[in-house]
Amino acid sequence: MWSHRVRCSGNFLFYEVELAFCGKIHLCAHNLGLGKVTMNELRQQLINKVLSCSGRPLARLSSRLRSISLLNVMLLIVFTITPLKALSMSEENEIKLGAKEHQKIIAQYGIYRDKDLQDYVSMVGQRVAAQSSRPNLEYHFTLLDDEIINAFALPGGYVYVTRGMLTHVNTESELAAILGHEVAHVTEKHGLRNQSKAKLLDLAAQIASAVTGTAGVYDLGGILGGVLLKGYSREFELEADAVGSRYMAKAGYSPDAMLNTIEILKDKDRIEIAHARIEKRTPQVYHGFLSTHPDQDTRYKRAIMESSVLLTDYEQSIEKDDFLTKLDGLRYGPTKQIGVVRKNVFYHKNLGIKLRFPQGWRIESGARGVQAVSAVSDAVLAFSTARLSKKVRGREFFETMGMEIREGKDLTIGGLPAYLGIADRAETPFGRRPARVAAIFNERRRVAYILTGAGAQDLHKIAADRDFIATIFSFDKMDAADRKKAVKPKLEVITVEEGMTMEQLAAASPITNYALDKLRVINGLYPKGQPEVGQMLKIID
Ligand SMILES: [Zn+2]
Repeated sequence: MWSHRVRCSGNFLFYEVELAFCGKIHLCAHNLGLGKVTMNELRQQLINKVLSCSGRPLARLSSRLRSISLLNVMLLIVFTITPLKALSMSEENEIKLGAKEHQKIIAQYGIYRDKDLQDYVSMVGQRVAAQSSRPNLEYHFTLLDDEIINAFALPGGYVYVTRGMLTHVNTESELAAILGHEVAHVTEKHGLRNQSKAKLLDLAAQIASAVTGTAGVYDLGGILGGVLLKGYSREFELEADAVGSRYMAKAGYSPDAMLNTIEILKDKDRIEIAHARIEKRTPQVYHGFLSTHPDQDTRYKRAIMESSVLLTDYEQSIEKDDFLTKLDGLRYGPTKQIGVVRKNVFYHKNLGIKLRFPQGWRIESGARGVQAVSAVSDAVLAFSTARLSKKVRGREFFETMGMEIREGKDLTIGGLPAYLGIADRAETPFGRRPARVAAIFNERRRVAYILTGAGAQDLHKIAADRDFIATIFSFDKMDAADRKKAVKPKLEVITVEEGMTMEQLAAASPITNYALDKLRVINGLYPKGQPEVGQMLKIID
């Protein structure tokens, strides 16, 4: 049922287990102390270790692995013959570990380039950290340029919050709650405690990468994937809420904010899970709040309320409106995106073109172009460009790409010569099948725009062909009005006027799908709330 591969790197031995149905996992053993052994003996030793150290039967291990591979998370398991004395790790080593991982986090995500906002996040974080049980540790708070909603901490005092998270925060106290929760993960050494158990814990990846120095993005994916998708154990999450709420109370922030924040994140998880179900994909949920906090509400509410007695004089330095004003202009949407997407229209300013994708489809930018996926993920339309070098146009253009075309026609699209047809055996994300293809030729720029549409169920007929054709014919040059519109969406803070409704604001927003739900969630108005006249509200513009 499974195959193995052993790979040596320095003192480390990587053991790759490949299961027929669930992809790969990487196991890493260090300080085996085995002396000279043959690879086969080593392999056997490792198999025994896999089974004994994990302390669980293979059947359970494999069902766990199956779910992991579904999440596309690479899991790294660290085995140590001499257990890592994690809790007794010196502070110096803990800081070194954090500092090293910090570089990788920055390289992967990038810092959000707004010094005032960075300084502000840091100021709130330092205020909370100063009241923690490890006030002398040097803390570093970083706002990351990522639209995913996340906050996490590394050992040694490194705390991160993404701009996607900040979009969902409505008061300084809520921000303090998020940072307090993460500071608590640091002071309670949750990352290190996870490791000392040396079980199937993603966070262990952190140690492995720090020690081997060979860690790549996979390890990082392990850490962040773990934190993002599963979080720590329920116990650690609840402890971080309770401890974090004590820190914030001592810093002068009302611990109720912790409950608000959790509610907002739960709402976000709820809509994400609902949308992912419709779209038949894996939901991206923050800290797994719905799974770590569901039936424990009373317990964590009590823990948080108990910290209220610690509340020091609340310094009303930042009112809600002032806080929201600080978020005005915050980027919204993906960081690395070709062109601009507003609603279902894609604009590319440099090429001076636009394309309207079908309503309700998800639009995703990749390194080589843009693709739109139908609401239930059963059809994909890709848009890319190719350099026009040779004198091949029309049918010949596709033939030189190795495609056989039927029902081909020469025509004009967006004022440019184009060719439309069906390629019978095209390579598509669903495998080899018929695909609707179109190429639009811009001789002056020496570029061809290529559109390819295919469906999961297509054997001969193309089910979503009407949508493909409509999109292909929506291709056009941008005019002056389009140029004004083609700016990346940003968060804007407005004052609500008489008669404004969430429905109207959602209709006017550039958010591609589920604008109403998303706007409500970021303003704490989910599922049915309406804003009050005169209040400040976050919209996307
Ligand atoms: Zn947490």
